[in-house]
Amino acid sequence: MDSILVVNAGSSSVKFQVFAVECEGRLRRTIKGQIDGIGSRPRLRANGAGGDPMADRAYPIEAVGDVPAAMEIAGAWLRNEVRIQPLAVGHRVVHGGPDFERPVLVDHGVVARLERFVALAPLHQPHNLAPIRSILAGFPAVPQVACFDTAFHRTHGPLADHYAIPHQLHAEGVRRYGFHGLSYEYISRSLPQIAPAIAKRRVIVAHLGSGASMCAMKEGLSVESTMGFTALDGLPMGTRPGQLDPGVVLYLISEKGMTAAKVQDFLYRDCGLKGLSGVSNDMRELEASTDPQAKLAVDYFTYRIGLNAGMLAAALQGLDAFVFTAGIGENSSGIRVRVAERLGWLGVALDAAANDRHSRLISAKSSLVPVYVIPTDEELMIAQHTLSLLMGGQSPNPRNERVS
Ligand code: AMP
Repeated sequence: MDSILVVNAGSSSVKFQVFAVECEGRLRRTIKGQIDGIGSRPRLRANGAGGDPMADRAYPIEAVGDVPAAMEIAGAWLRNEVRIQPLAVGHRVVHGGPDFERPVLVDHGVVARLERFVALAPLHQPHNLAPIRSILAGFPAVPQVACFDTAFHRTHGPLADHYAIPHQLHAEGVRRYGFHGLSYEYISRSLPQIAPAIAKRRVIVAHLGSGASMCAMKEGLSVESTMGFTALDGLPMGTRPGQLDPGVVLYLISEKGMTAAKVQDFLYRDCGLKGLSGVSNDMRELEASTDPQAKLAVDYFTYRIGLNAGMLAAALQGLDAFVFTAGIGENSSGIRVRVAERLGWLGVALDAAANDRHSRLISAKSSLVPVYVIPTDEELMIAQHTLSLLMGGQSPNPRNERVS
């Protein structure tokens, strides 16, 4: 059976999924796997579509020292044991910079252009590009498609795209890009089926996972985001602080003597829910904890979501629907209750039973704004883009495409 392989490579893990291509280009997920613990305790785990275990094996640290080595092991397992020869490979790439406003078929020239954005996403971009390079070298005939977290937000107007800094820096690429675009695109495409009446209207989508951001959508397109130049801005996250006065960074450098590399590490790994609580970056642990600092972290998280929702509602000049998605948004009824309370002034009210059941529509009948829980599927989005580029079509550009 023809299949598409989707790869999402990070610094210490390579996640992969396989989708079978069925008639009329329908995609069916068949395998979900990952190699994690790269460089520490490498382990390959994979399950079938129904969660049935297919592989669970540990490797010596020397065998999986980096992302290309992990890719090689996952690739060999897929080829030799599961007998999968994908038609094409789709990759999640965090940064498409100002150039790429849609997914693209990759060749050496594209890789070279994407290398230029390593400086914009130093913790993600190099790892995203590593498996692309290994596959180009080892299997040059296999088509590869890069799908960007920034692309969905390229519909932003100049006001949303700029910082108030000299224009030269904007021209160099210092812009408010926005991230989690594959997740928002999935939600945007799902809304016409789920809620046709509001799909084209003013919608705030809250992607609340270990990374968290919110997107203001109008007509199914992104008009504003809480994230900007990097994935540090906006909402507090598992280990990232969200919005921070740049003066804090200056203080860390001038008073604490931290180097740029140290500050970067601190902002990506030691802040957010973890830094504020001193307990954990995991929302489940924080919600279960009786530690007052854990409570402060949860309160801060929902408070900042409320503040940022106000900002996005101002960008939209109103609000017709609110959507929760990603790990926390899909699973924590408690966080949804607290966020909804913060949005009460906009006319939001939840139906407690529907919220506890994680129903799709969780707002009360009396709510002026319907509230939805929609599980996101970034991998399916990547597989769809990959297939459509493979079929010779252009991958849809949100600017041109009717999302319904
Ligand atoms: P994601 O990055 O989308 O996979 O989301 C991961 C985050 O979702 C984790 O940090 C967890 O804190 C959170 N999460 C997952 N399940 C739950 C749950 N049942 N309640 C609260 N948070 C959850």
